[in-house]
Order: sequence, then structure tokens, then C-alpha cells
Amino acid sequence: MKLLHKIFIIISLVVFTSNTIDGKVSDEKKPGDDKKSKGKSKDDTTHINTNLAKHLNEEHGEDGLPEASDSTLISFPSNDLYASWDTTMAHPYNFHEAFKTDSVEINFVSPGEGLFVVPFKGNLTSEFGWRHRRPHYGTDIDLVTGDTVVSAFDGMVRIAKVCYGYGNCIIIRHKNGLETVYGHLSKMNVEVGQQVKAGEIIGLGGNTGRSTGDHLHWELRYLGQAIDAEDVVNFTTGQLKDNCFVLRKTDVENKYDLRALHGRHKRDVGLTKAEIAYAKKTGKKLHKVRSGDTLGHIAQRYHTTVSALCKKNKLRPTTTLKLGQLIKI
Ligand SMILES: [Zn+2]
Repeated sequence: MKLLHKIFIIISLVVFTSNTIDGKVSDEKKPGDDKKSKGKSKDDTTHINTNLAKHLNEEHGEDGLPEASDSTLISFPSNDLYASWDTTMAHPYNFHEAFKTDSVEINFVSPGEGLFVVPFKGNLTSEFGWRHRRPHYGTDIDLVTGDTVVSAFDGMVRIAKVCYGYGNCIIIRHKNGLETVYGHLSKMNVEVGQQVKAGEIIGLGGNTGRSTGDHLHWELRYLGQAIDAEDVVNFTTGQLKDNCFVLRKTDVENKYDLRALHGRHKRDVGLTKAEIAYAKKTGKKLHKVRSGDTLGHIAQRYHTTVSALCKKNKLRPTTTLKLGQLIKI
């Protein structure tokens, strides 16, 4: 009996070990894998699983090794949604390939999931949208170098390294399907594969990367697509606006996919050469009114407000726009 028992334990350990090394994460390819990341995921998975096994062992102690058949203990957050666990690239996903439905509901309150904690409570210094001719996919929160930055939700650290533009950057994958990005940090206190709780300190704010002054650059992403965090979070109260957020394909197309919108705008506006030259010379952005345009549409497209457009163009909010009319943005 004793011998049989021993053999069973040995077999169990072999199964568990092989699971942790060749976890199914690396075997299954789903839409959403970046072509560039192909061939990398196996190494990454091995690395992460080694880390993970270490954390699990720490958590359970020698006697509390998880049971061999319990593969849920070695899966990554939202593994059903994301096919890869890439610890080298900040954004290895292709949202448009992976997002097959018209909309998805992202739930913030689910069993076993800690609530939301704003990563740093400070004034917003820059919003999601176009800025200095570059897309700005995050929300900038003012802080002083050394201020503590916390994880917004429970999750697992996928990236903790210097990334282009972001400087010292941490990216955390959450069970609700989101990933959050924390950029320009002066210090990173977590490592890849580490499980973190909402509100847990992950690093210190700073001014690393492409940054002009201390601040936290914070992004909310779903399958790699950045979402305007102000649509989800009330930064004044530090609370979520709702218990869930519905991400619609139309919102991505008309609001969040900044580069595609920019490309579409360039094609659609139909400015003359003289008008483009004027815009370049003065640095002012122009919009040529097309059929169906309203001040509201234009304001939304350029992430501004109707009242700002009215002021710049000496218009009333009720003014009917004329086709071909030029609007200063
Ligand atoms: Zn930023």
C-alpha cells in the first residue's frame, strides 16, 4: 500500500510539473496573437510558469502543493480571452481580429475579484485623445516622483520593464478582461508573474520615458485596444462610474481607435491644398463640413466640446452648418 501511495505521488508530481512547463497556454493559438509574437510565447510561458510555480509554492507551502489535476491554478487571468501571455511586448494583440461581437460587457464586480482602486489620486493633466499630433492612449495623473502607485484591480503582472515611450512600465492583466498600463514609473516593485491585489503598491511614480514632468500615464486596454479611462472611472471620486462597462465596436471605431480615426479623417475631410497649407502654417486643425455633420459630431471626433468649437468659430450651438464650411478645431 505504502509503495503504491508513493508511486501515485510521483506520478502526480510529474503531471503537475509537465503542466507547469508546457501549459496549454502556449499550445493553443487563438485570434489576437500578434504575428510578431509567434514563436515567443513558449519561452515566455515557461518563464512565467516557473515564476508562477514559485509563487504557488510560497502560497501553499511544502505540504500544500496544489493537486495535479487542478489546472485552474496555473492559468493566467482572462486566459479564455487572450491566447498569449507575452512578457516582452507591451501590446502584442490584434483587437480587430479578436473582437468578434458587436459589444461586450466588462464586469467589475465578480466573485473573488477585488474592487477598484484608483492607481493614484491626483489631478488629471492630460486626457485620452490626440495631443501634439500624437495619439494619447492614456490618462495622465499628476504626482511627484516617489508617490506610490497601486494596482487598479486584482491581477497578474505581465510586463515589468522599460518599454518604448512608457519608460519604466508595468502592465497587469485582470480577471475582468482588462489590462492596465502604468507608465513613467521611477521604481517598479513587482515582477512578471506576480499576483497583485487591487490597491497593492506596484511601484513609484516618476518621469521616465517620453515624459515632460512627473506624472503617471495610465491606460485601460481590452484585447490591446485602449479605452478612454474617463468613460469608466470618475477621477474626482476615485470610483468606477458603474459596476460594468459595455464596450461597443462602434465606440471603438468612432472614439477609441485614434489612429484609424485619424486616417479616416485625412481621407474624408477633403481639404484643398491651400487649406492644408494654411493648417500646416498656422498649426490649426481644420474640418470641412460634410453631409450629416453637426457640431456635436465634430466635437466628439476631435475630442473637444461644442462650446469650444463655437467660441473658436464664432458660432452659436444652434447654427446650421453649411456643406464645405471650414471649422477651426
Ligand atoms: Zn500620458
